[in-house]
Amino acid sequence: MEQPIVIALSKGRILKETLPLLAAAGIEPAEDISKSRKLIFETNMPNVRLLVIRATDVPTYVEYGAADLGVSGKDVLMEHDAQEVQEVLDLKIAKCRLMTAALKGSEISSGRIRVATKFVDLAKQYYAEQGRQVEIIKLYGGMELAPIMGLADCIVDIVDTGNTLIANGLEPREHIADISSRLVANRSSMKTKFKQLQPIINQMAEAVTD
Ligand code: AMP
Repeated sequence: MEQPIVIALSKGRILKETLPLLAAAGIEPAEDISKSRKLIFETNMPNVRLLVIRATDVPTYVEYGAADLGVSGKDVLMEHDAQEVQEVLDLKIAKCRLMTAALKGSEISSGRIRVATKFVDLAKQYYAEQGRQVEIIKLYGGMELAPIMGLADCIVDIVDTGNTLIANGLEPREHIADISSRLVANRSSMKTKFKQLQPIINQMAEAVTD
């Protein structure tokens, strides 16, 4: 008897790019996810269900084994950093960069600066490696506003085209990391459900393109 498999997906832009990779592994949602407000979806496979949740919650579901597999951005995974969450595949989707940014042309003091971000641990780690003194201010969105309003000297955020920065009078400064979405697995599931998970992982791997 096949065991139930739960896959946690990040909603939004990552989801759109994930669905074709899941389809390559023979997994298709039973209904149109974009047209539904549901959080849990049956699939064409009787034992596989999909969760559609906030990107930042995906590692938590996988960590506790509430989901066997998950798809989430490397930024979220680096910030979450849980032992039980094993990265199994770089899906090479939703590519972007984690960067610092500041008001265009502004000078950043070499002394203690204030940095606004939702990536608190990543930012702390980055500035510690640089030997820089920073005060991190946690925000949940719209980080670009912080330098404009004098709340922070700079921000640490995700940059794709850079249009959001430009639209708010900011510019990218330091490149911290290249980001893409990853397939992650619960470590215990990888042992107890390996026979079922392996073909899914392998077929998704075959569908990955640069
Ligand atoms: P852009 O204006 O293209 O540089 O997009 C920047 C904004 O979109 C940022 O504020 C991010 O929050 C969001 N964003 C862009 N790409 C991604 C991604 N791959 N994953 C998550 N958020 C992203």
